[in-house]
Amino acid sequence: MSLYAVEITYLIAAILFVFGLKGLSHPDSARRGMILAAAGMAAAIVGTLFERAIVSYEWIVAGLVVGSLIGAAMSIWMPMTAMPQRTALSHAFGALAAALVGVAEYSLHGASMGRFRIGALGFEVMLGSLTFTGSMMAFSKLQGLMRGTPITYKGQNVVTSILLVVTVSSFIYLLINPSFAAAFYVMVCIAFLFGVLLVIPIGASDMPVVMSLLNSYAGLASAATGFVLANNVLIIAGTLDGFSGFILSILMCRAMNRSITNVLFGAFGAYVADTGVAETGTMREVGLEDVAIQLAYARQVVFVPGYGMATAQAQFAVRDLGDALEHHGVTVKYAIHPVAGRMPGHMNVLLAEANVPYSSLYEMEQINPELPRTDVAVVIGANDVVNPEARDNPKSPIAGMPIIECDRSKSVVVLKRGKGKGFSGLENPLFFKPNTGMLYGDAKTSLSQLVQEVQKVR
Ligand code: NAP
Repeated sequence: MSLYAVEITYLIAAILFVFGLKGLSHPDSARRGMILAAAGMAAAIVGTLFERAIVSYEWIVAGLVVGSLIGAAMSIWMPMTAMPQRTALSHAFGALAAALVGVAEYSLHGASMGRFRIGALGFEVMLGSLTFTGSMMAFSKLQGLMRGTPITYKGQNVVTSILLVVTVSSFIYLLINPSFAAAFYVMVCIAFLFGVLLVIPIGASDMPVVMSLLNSYAGLASAATGFVLANNVLIIAGTLDGFSGFILSILMCRAMNRSITNVLFGAFGAYVADTGVAETGTMREVGLEDVAIQLAYARQVVFVPGYGMATAQAQFAVRDLGDALEHHGVTVKYAIHPVAGRMPGHMNVLLAEANVPYSSLYEMEQINPELPRTDVAVVIGANDVVNPEARDNPKSPIAGMPIIECDRSKSVVVLKRGKGKGFSGLENPLFFKPNTGMLYGDAKTSLSQLVQEVQKVR
């Protein structure tokens, strides 16, 4: 294949990546987006296999086989609920690859690469190394291999800042004196350590934001690799990945009403629960039969899923209840909050797994105006994303976080196991309102029982 043909293949790959990303912006087109992006990646690999610089294929084939086997095993056996961990592992692999390519290039060519390429290489290795260890920490926290709560120690900020200064100083020194290999290897080692220290003070629940940032770093490391290897498709794909990850981090922060600086400086993971209003009063418990009758005779029911639906793996039971209600002539809609659950699009992914039609999924802005004319809002393991404190109490730690306004619907049924708080640790006044009924129990069990009860209603 001529150089010209390789570049055309890369161009096709880049176009497919752009259309892939566009497709991912809506649940309806997300599958198509994924297929386009995968096709783009295939085109990029094929183009690379025809690079003239390749002298032998043995190691490449071995890498392709091992990588494909690991990828296939992960997608077949890791459950949907483990998607955040799975993503952390993918970032770790990508970042490690970028870092290793950088180390190999430096040990092969050293100072002869020239200042510009050394600069790109230093950037690549620094970001790649810290992203690798940072992502492995995120994986371990999410998988429960290490403590999920923030790990802190005295003088933590000072130690982390010193390490950052040493890494960046080594990088700058390398730019001034590219043949000083010690500066390069000090930078690599400290960047690996820095990744660990950056992530351990952050709680497991905040890992999605961290991972989206690490995703952005891994993308930028790949873009830098592209400059080192003079490979256009790496530059384009890395930049797309880097900036989309960064935009996603900003969107997640906005949806949680947190500032990006708060995220960037790692001061999160520890919400303070005592500034919210403590609720007095009692929660009204309701029974299965009553709820089933209420639902079956409603005109419109809106399901509001949250983290509890994910932990209970209740998405199929939600779909069954939706079907049973539709059979009774009830209009059923699903309200999706952008940060319900523990990763962006968490609810979309789970409901899509249960084949809930996209046309029944409503974004927060679409469903809120409908809630005052909704007969029953069924909250399934959601808490913070339906907490009216965010809207009504400017002193609340979650003040300003947009919510799904279930409290404005005619009545509310909340499915949760007990009186457990949400991610923020705050009390939720919605649960104490006179038109709210609490149906206690595991969400999946309650929903399955409700399906049977609804089927009994004539
Ligand atoms: P949430 O505030 O964490 O509340 C989940 C509720 O589910 C709990 O109150 C719990 O109450 C209940 N629950 C847990 N297991 C259950 C089960 N098996 N069956 C029934 N109920 C169960 O969840 P959310 O409303 O989805 O809010 C998400 C939170 O995560 C937000 O504060 C958001 O800012 C944060 N966050 C999200 C992302 C993201 O990307 N999505 C990223 C970082 C942080 P019981 O213990 O009483 O059952």
